[in-house]
Amino acid sequence: MSVTVLDHPLIQHKLTLLRQSDTSTAGFRRIVREISLLMAYEVTRGLPLEQVPIETPLEPMLAPQLAGKKLCLVSILRAGNGILDGMLDLVPSARVGHVGLYRDPETLVPVEYYLKLPDDIAERLVIVVDPMLATGHSAAAAISRLKQAGAAQIRFVCLLCAPEGLAAFEDEHPDVEIFTCAVDRGLDDHGYIRPGLGDAGDRLYGTK
Ligand code: URA
Repeated sequence: MSVTVLDHPLIQHKLTLLRQSDTSTAGFRRIVREISLLMAYEVTRGLPLEQVPIETPLEPMLAPQLAGKKLCLVSILRAGNGILDGMLDLVPSARVGHVGLYRDPETLVPVEYYLKLPDDIAERLVIVVDPMLATGHSAAAAISRLKQAGAAQIRFVCLLCAPEGLAAFEDEHPDVEIFTCAVDRGLDDHGYIRPGLGDAGDRLYGTK
């Protein structure tokens, strides 16, 4: 399994602010946006470059630019949208997809209620975003759906992981690299990550 913990001091400092229960909704949303921009910087580190001819005010030169079709960001609704906004600040031309899943209360199987993806997803590096990798089931189901749609090169980005979620995710998708700010102690009986930061969607949108 490839798990990269993003240990940049600015990321770790901002994560601490997110964890604190007295961070306001507005503060939480702003910090998620800031930290997401930094995570986008790390997850795109290896993108291929090509040399193109340009003219500076003084002379022509060959200069690097991103090669080929670039990124597709996919948000797992709804909390993924908080990360999406920050990543789009850094890569505004990225294509964007959305996946909505809910857990059937009887079977506990994730059920898709929304899916919208760019047609050329197979040709892009797909970065799937969801703040919390808790049980890992929704993220794994979303990624299975993206693979069915043709996505071949996929990375998953979250703020926090539980070890249980990492194990479940890796069972289904050993080919998908995970980027996270921390791996926490584990899940509680309600499926919350401990110590965690609470419900990411509620904290982003002030719904509790
Ligand atoms: N989803 C959240 O928002 N928080 C958790 O701790 C687990 C899942």
